[in-house]
Amino acid sequence: MRPEITKKERDCIVVLMERGSFPVRLYNVAEMLNVKPPTAHELISRLISKNIVQKSNGIISLTDEGKLLYDEIIMAHRTLEIIMARSGINSEKACSQVEKIDYLMDESSIEKLFSNLGSPEICPHGKPVRPPHL
Ligand SMILES: [Zn+2]
Repeated sequence: MRPEITKKERDCIVVLMERGSFPVRLYNVAEMLNVKPPTAHELISRLISKNIVQKSNGIISLTDEGKLLYDEIIMAHRTLEIIMARSGINSEKACSQVEKIDYLMDESSIEKLFSNLGSPEICPHGKPVRPPHL
């Protein structure tokens, strides 16, 4: 069962993953999300309690479950972007609109939209739609 997350939690998952192999500490999270350290602390604590994030010696990273959730968010994001782009919405606008809802989408609905689109390999930004693990 996938945990419910907020938009800020979604943004945190995305920056943690896109930061790559750089070690991330609490102040990095605060900086990347443009929030104050106490807010970042609260956010990370919530993500830890949902088993999405782990903290070891002050280094914050996604759990395996968090990585899977990231993949699902990204697939939803890119699938919805394609629908919008094909409807004539420019890709920047599509991207900023889709960010507001991608993390709320149900995975099986996204699978249906994706296959209905003809299982496209890349999004309007040229990135793979289906992450390798899904
Ligand atoms: Zn996008």
